Amino acid sequence: MSTETLEIRDPAKESDDTEAGNYFVANYPPFSFWNAGTAQTVRDLLEQPSRPGVPLGVYFHVPFCRKRCHFCYFRVYTDKNADEIKRYLDAGIAEFELYAHSPLIQGRKPKFVYFGGGTPSYLSVSQLTYLTDRMKALLPWDEAEEVTFEAEPGTLTEQKLAAIRQIGVTRLSLGVENFDSHILEINGRAHRTEEIYRAYKYARSIGFPQINIDLISGMVEETNENWRTNIRKTIELEPDSVTIYQMEVPYNTGIYKQMKAEGKLVAPVANWHTKRDWVDEAFRELEKVGYTVTSGYTAVRDPEKSKFVYRDQLWTGSDLIGLGVASFSHIAGTHYQNITEFTQYLEAIQGGDLPISRALATTEEERMIREFILQMKLGRVNRSYFENKFRVNVTERFAPQFADLKGKGLLEEQGNWLVLTREALLRVDTLLHAFFLPQHQGARYT
Ligand code: SF4
Repeated sequence: MSTETLEIRDPAKESDDTEAGNYFVANYPPFSFWNAGTAQTVRDLLEQPSRPGVPLGVYFHVPFCRKRCHFCYFRVYTDKNADEIKRYLDAGIAEFELYAHSPLIQGRKPKFVYFGGGTPSYLSVSQLTYLTDRMKALLPWDEAEEVTFEAEPGTLTEQKLAAIRQIGVTRLSLGVENFDSHILEINGRAHRTEEIYRAYKYARSIGFPQINIDLISGMVEETNENWRTNIRKTIELEPDSVTIYQMEVPYNTGIYKQMKAEGKLVAPVANWHTKRDWVDEAFRELEKVGYTVTSGYTAVRDPEKSKFVYRDQLWTGSDLIGLGVASFSHIAGTHYQNITEFTQYLEAIQGGDLPISRALATTEEERMIREFILQMKLGRVNRSYFENKFRVNVTERFAPQFADLKGKGLLEEQGNWLVLTREALLRVDTLLHAFFLPQHQGARYT
């Protein structure tokens, strides 16, 4: 392993334009190393006895949206009718049943539950109640520390918000993205400014323990002035947490298709430098009013009260059952993803089989690297954690990478902690590849 391949990319040498491709590092090893052959082994895993002390989470994917945002790279459906949705929910419940009755999962109580999408709030009140009643009957979540629900503001009526609260959701995550109706519209979002305020006000009034607001830095036509307005309006609402993503333009987005049709290599959004500056500005303004930056994407009003159990558990290696089309799971050290096509997913479930398309059984070293890079996204990594869990001294294991980061003024050692500077945290995803094993360097993230 030469230090050349480990060198952290120099910001001055990076292309600053937003070009097509994935920037966000969601997992490790990269998805291009997962395969269909290993998928067959997951059923055997579920036959093992459960491992004491490993927390369990459940993710349910709702792949429906009112319309497709131009920057969206998820597999979502905007044309499914009530019958198809019912069949999908039944399939998700049947899939959950396969897990709930397996030796590995049976009797375990989820520590966290997450409804993501797509748009979970696209479901009607009766669909939501139907789904969650059945899920709870299979594996009660009365001991869950957190139940998160992603919502698109325009789908939230008072009746639906009350139902979401009633089923036990503790963390409502509102996909605001931007407060300007024109910007929302030209980026293909379904909701408008008034709907954000209406939904937020009612959600607050009925006592959700935690409300998160999602924003995107660098939507098409974003300006300095409008971004400042976004920050001001966010602060006025006093959400418990704020999550800010930097706009990326993967190949399966509407924006990329348009770029391709016009023969353009650069996306019509702000460059990386500007997007980072906008997140930096938002973090600084939020800090001025008492928020704490807890990751490269998140600021929270009260870190003691507003945890993000889903993220923290996932990044420390808990088991996760991912239900629904295209969902990701991590069970007993094996990563896997469900079939990504709607009809094939339903057919697999109807055949009584787990609908898995690709998997990877990770090595201990890969699990160590995975947790390390994911925890780097928090901006602080505790060395003792890796010594205790993996018997690895990360300072020695990653000596060339740390020397490089320190030399560039991106990392400091504070006692037992390795701490990224704010500059490093704002582009943390670009720094993580240097920690990959040689065979994973430069791999595709699709
Ligand atoms: S609401 Fe989210 S999942 Fe649905 S189309 Fe927009 S970005 Fe994609």
